[in-house]
Amino acid sequence: MNSQKRIIGVVPVGDVPELAPKVIAAHITGYLKLEAEILTPLELPAAAFDEIQRQYNAAIILSCLESGPHDIYAKVIGVFNVDLFIPTFAYVFGEARQGGQHALVSLFRLTGEKDNRRRPSPIVCERAAKVALHELGHLYNLWHCEEKKCLMHYSGGLADLDDIPLYFCRYCSTYFRDALLRPKY
Ligand SMILES: [Zn+2]
Ligand SMILES: [Zn+2]
Repeated sequence: MNSQKRIIGVVPVGDVPELAPKVIAAHITGYLKLEAEILTPLELPAAAFDEIQRQYNAAIILSCLESGPHDIYAKVIGVFNVDLFIPTFAYVFGEARQGGQHALVSLFRLTGEKDNRRRPSPIVCERAAKVALHELGHLYNLWHCEEKKCLMHYSGGLADLDDIPLYFCRYCSTYFRDALLRPKY
């Protein structure tokens, strides 16, 4: 078996503050006990920019990432600093294909303010890590959880996101550990 198969890749896409991927990788290792590696940055896929919405289409970005050179990694988290949307939501903090290989997280909506070019504050980094770990849960086929004190609880806004913890509830934690043992993942 390829030794890198267990490693989670964290790839900055476009102009992303260097600190954010580092904090996300550290949280993946610290909270999920998985090895994480920061990958060579990629350019924003121009095809994903929606001229009408003036935002990036997360579904198109996912497809672009999926055709990228990441086969050796177990899962890959793309880190962005642009406004992402999916057709049914005005904006999203992150996106993942359930059970898939790639997920996205964007800092753009996590600042709660217009200026997102500064060095991200500790709270923004923590939010980004939370979204990344939540999306990683989806990649290991975890669904949304009713338990409010669970990383897989759905958050529709920043207040919800700040309320959920950085860890899974007992049920999701067991499911996650089991998923890691399955050869498919
Ligand atoms: Zn979710
Ligand atoms: Zn849960």
